[in-house]
Amino acid sequence: MTELLFRDDAYRREAEVEAIEAAPGRIVLDSTVFYAQGGGQPGDRGELVRADGSTIAVVNTVYDADRKTIAHIPAEGAAQLPAPGERVTARLDWELRYKRMRAHTALHLLSVVLPYPVTGGSVGDGEGRLDFDSGEVGFDKADIQRRLEALVATDAAVTTRWITDEELAANPGLVKTMKVKPPTGSGRVRLVEIAGLDLQPCGGTHVARVGEIDRVAVTGIEKKGKLNRRVRIMLG
Ligand SMILES: [Zn+2]
Repeated sequence: MTELLFRDDAYRREAEVEAIEAAPGRIVLDSTVFYAQGGGQPGDRGELVRADGSTIAVVNTVYDADRKTIAHIPAEGAAQLPAPGERVTARLDWELRYKRMRAHTALHLLSVVLPYPVTGGSVGDGEGRLDFDSGEVGFDKADIQRRLEALVATDAAVTTRWITDEELAANPGLVKTMKVKPPTGSGRVRLVEIAGLDLQPCGGTHVARVGEIDRVAVTGIEKKGKLNRRVRIMLG
């Protein structure tokens, strides 16, 4: 089971950690700052720096089937893998991660602008999309853009807290995503709150204040089936 350092501090760019197991295509550390692919957000990239200064590029980060252990995927042909017990510095591709944090938090705001059930979504590198079950309601791109910008301008604080599975079950209105149910079963669920604007379960990485999203544009609205609308955004 990997300790998830990104859960408590999304701004942590690197950490001194211990290699637990390493094989071609897979490196497990005792703890990590690398976000593992999930909830529509891609896995982090970066590098592992060994004591002699040599580096191993990490091209993706994923969960094992147990959803508790994180595997760092080294670049193909990585020369040397760390030995079990070896101390390494896990360092994020921070520029990429920060873009994802901004885009991800912008999608939370988009779900405030468009208060319809979310049926899907994903975070890309500086862009993202959400699918809404909006029924027959049509979307106006310029209007969505204007309201999104107004929410960014509030510079509201983004915080996280944990509630029990039972508390979540008692408040089903917290869940905006219809198909992507929050992970329960571990006894607790992580809530992300944007002060005065939004509260929903989410395991992703977010900026600390929505002002950090800075410039964001609504780049497209597509009809997906009879009732679904896909809205795309891009950071400026
Ligand atoms: Zn989130």
